[in-house]
Amino acid sequence: MPYDMLASRSPLPGGEGLGEGERAAGAVPEGFDDAGLAELFITGRVTRGDGDGVSVRKSGDHKCGRCWRLLPEVPEDGGLCHRCEDAVAQLDAVP
Ligand SMILES: [Zn+2]
Repeated sequence: MPYDMLASRSPLPGGEGLGEGERAAGAVPEGFDDAGLAELFITGRVTRGDGDGVSVRKSGDHKCGRCWRLLPEVPEDGGLCHRCEDAVAQLDAVP
C-alpha cells in the first residue's frame, strides 16, 4: 500500500486520520507500468496476474547492494540491479 494511503489512515501527531481502511478511497495514477507500480507500492516488483484480487507474497529475488530493492535481475544478495549498474557505470565514466 502506498505510503500516502497508509499515512491518510493513521492519525499523525496533532492531525486527523481517516481511521478504518474502509473510510479511505484510494486512487492510483494512470500510466504506471509494473516497475512504476512496484516503486509506488514500495515493493520489489508487481506483476499482473489472473483473478480479481490482490495478493502479496514474500519475494524470492535477491537484494541489490546499492538500492536494496529485491529484483529478478540481481544475481545474488549484494549484486547490482540494472538501474544501479547503469548509475555506477556513469559514475565511473566521470573523469
Ligand atoms: Zn539497485
